[in-house]
Amino acid sequence: MTISYVDFKDVEISDYDALIVGSGFAGSVVARQLADCRDLRVLIIEKRPHIGGNMYDELDENGVLVHRYGPHIFHSNDQRAFYYLRRYAGFIPYEHRVLANWHGTYMPVPFNKKSMVIAFGEEKAQHLIEKLIAKFGDGVKVTINELRSQDDPELAEVADFVYENVFLYYTQKQWGLTPEEVDPSVTARVPVFISEDDRYFQDKFQGMPVHGYTKLFESMLDYEGIDICLNTDAESVFELEFESDAEDAGLSAIKLKGQAFEGPIIYTGPLDELFLSRFGRLPYRSLDFVYETFDQEFVQPCGTVNYTVSEDYTRITEFKHMTYQRCPNTTIMKEYSRSYDDPRTQIPYYAIINEENNAHYERYRKLTETLPNFYPLGRLAEYRYYNMDKIVSLALELSDRIMAKLDAEAQL
Ligand code: FAD
Ligand code: UDP
Repeated sequence: MTISYVDFKDVEISDYDALIVGSGFAGSVVARQLADCRDLRVLIIEKRPHIGGNMYDELDENGVLVHRYGPHIFHSNDQRAFYYLRRYAGFIPYEHRVLANWHGTYMPVPFNKKSMVIAFGEEKAQHLIEKLIAKFGDGVKVTINELRSQDDPELAEVADFVYENVFLYYTQKQWGLTPEEVDPSVTARVPVFISEDDRYFQDKFQGMPVHGYTKLFESMLDYEGIDICLNTDAESVFELEFESDAEDAGLSAIKLKGQAFEGPIIYTGPLDELFLSRFGRLPYRSLDFVYETFDQEFVQPCGTVNYTVSEDYTRITEFKHMTYQRCPNTTIMKEYSRSYDDPRTQIPYYAIINEENNAHYERYRKLTETLPNFYPLGRLAEYRYYNMDKIVSLALELSDRIMAKLDAEAQL
């Protein structure tokens, strides 16, 4: 078989049992589960010209496999999510390592015992490590906020160093905010690690799909009953109906080609865009990616180098470290973080999580509560900072719930 791509103008809506917006992991996993486990006919509507959402990868013009929407490393403690993905692709073990370029010297991130030696010199580092161990324990992860709240002047010295040399400038570049201004869960993703372990993640399952993510998605979506419309924006084909004309009135139906769609609708795009920004746009950060190819095997010592004290870009990724591709040249990618101003030309990559934005999001989400067959799912539709494994897990759970509901309805 091959993937079934269809043109929206040729689609007969009544041919489908379920409708999915977006073909990232959120949409694709649900599509496959509903088609696979209940023989449902599923239509995926995807605005980009390809499947796979932000995990999409492809060979560039120099033959190097690159991730088009940022470096993606699978890491998880969730066995169900990992085993599920392994049905569709073999995984090659890969443990991500990140170095900070600190005034031209490489220093491990997360900041750990090895980074301490680089920052403070062997003797002082040993003394400070002992203090850290006495306070927090050996092998423990401590967030920068927790470290900064210590009164002890020597621990405060470590905290100040890490804050100023690892977090401050990088966070300002990435979010346009200081570390104090971002939600604490954001910087907590990269804690200080009182350990020699210099892997970026300590999860049980870590790896990369052997032939890349796009091939994994192709294998998942190449299935009887799944049709995909690329280059199709949900907003352009959905007709939304509301319970009343009031601004906060909930959805009562979604029509396509004049017919209300009665089956499950799984929506994985931004909710503000679905509702044409009626309460104003939700804030996101976007990114620009700049690629360079070199006629040499490698240009940097590991998959990602973070620029924590210099440069306008946040990080450089060299894909060959992550994909194990063997070829004489190499491609690197610089990431520039941007404010998200224009949905027509930019992609929303990161929700800017804080109380005000979460409340703003909630207002949109409430509009969907009144339509029982509508399910917002994923990093965009839930306005959350989710990793891939969490998305797979949530998509499997939602599929289970939808199937249980359909089964119960069928028995009535
Ligand atoms: P997406 O992958 O964004 O998919 C949503 C899809 O919906 C897209 O294809 C989009 O085009 C489509 N869509 C949106 N709106 C509409 C619409 N109105 N109509 C039609 N289609 C629409 N996670 C990890 O676990 N490890 C990593 O190393 C990692 N690195 C990352 C690096 C970067 C730079 C970023 C931004 C994220 C990273 N992530 C990583 C997170 C990962 O990308 C997300 O968890 C994952 O993409 C979420 O899947 P999703 O299906 O919810 O969303
Ligand atoms: N961070 C930082 N310096 C670093 C790495 C991370 O300041 O060298 C902060 C920054 O605010 C970043 C957050 O920690 O946005 C989370 O980092 P992570 O690497 O998890 O970000 P992602 O890969 O999701 O972009």
